[in-house]
Amino acid sequence: MKVQNGNNYCRTYLKPDNSSLEYELKSKSPKTTPFLLAYFLTCSLFLSICLAQPPEFNSDIAYEYLEKQCTFGTREPGSKGYYQCLEWLEQTLKEFGAEVYLQRFGANEAITGIDRKLTNVIAHFPSENGHTLMLCAHWDTRAYANLDPDPANRKKPIIGANDGASGVAVLLEMARLFAENPPPRSLLIVLFDGEDMGRAKHAEEFALGSKYWAAHQIPEPVEEAILLDMIGDADLEIPIEWYSERNAPSLRRQLWDIARQLELPAFVEQRGRAVQDDHVRLQRAGIPAVDLIDFEYPYWHTLEDTPDKCSAESLGQVGKVLVGFIYGVE
Ligand SMILES: [Zn+2]
Repeated sequence: MKVQNGNNYCRTYLKPDNSSLEYELKSKSPKTTPFLLAYFLTCSLFLSICLAQPPEFNSDIAYEYLEKQCTFGTREPGSKGYYQCLEWLEQTLKEFGAEVYLQRFGANEAITGIDRKLTNVIAHFPSENGHTLMLCAHWDTRAYANLDPDPANRKKPIIGANDGASGVAVLLEMARLFAENPPPRSLLIVLFDGEDMGRAKHAEEFALGSKYWAAHQIPEPVEEAILLDMIGDADLEIPIEWYSERNAPSLRRQLWDIARQLELPAFVEQRGRAVQDDHVRLQRAGIPAVDLIDFEYPYWHTLEDTPDKCSAESLGQVGKVLVGFIYGVE
């Protein structure tokens, strides 16, 4: 097992107390046998923990989570699908044993002037190791297919299979793994609302949930963050996003190193665009944050952003890197 970033089991648990062994060996008394036995049993336990395989990310389950979100319909704030999906997200994360917080806030939707009630969904998996990692994505979908080739569609909401559901799908599968394999550090999964409410070319009208979280940081601050956005494209290619490299180069490098070790070709060693996304809000609050995003998606902000354009395999590549980062690479 290769140790990644000091996050792995061994670092936490492999602390055999050699002094007690020395004492037992020196005494050479028959009474020492139970102590030696206990010692070796303890060593075996440490060893078995160290040799434990990292849990396996299930790409098919992740894809089912993507489809499930889309069955609620479009999930723009205020819609029927939005409220149904919110309830399902909360319920699902609770079933995985997380402490779930619904962080409510309000924001004005610039394009309509309507005040929207918004909710960040936060799942906390606490650990004694409070070096907290945030995994995040946005769960809202866009109310306007403003880039649809057909002008008649441009005021209709999108289903957001890739732009929204893909990142959430991977994080739900991660939560399922955390339930079965307690992670060796404290984890926050944050599903941001209000990411996609803005008008084109008005960056400040986007990423409202992350802006709100960064101002309040519940239930605890985080050391670093990994954002997933538009990572479901069946033709997935994730270049190095510009703000991520500038503000979190070490974290960015660790993720690409893991992808290389695991031979996951979606992670390409090319400099990508600068994307104003939720991670920039976190970076402004001083948190190193990396955005895993494939912005080259022809169906972006169109009615064609549907599950058939996505694949389980793509979700799996991203999930496997997250598992490698958290549990170590085998
Ligand atoms: Zn979008």
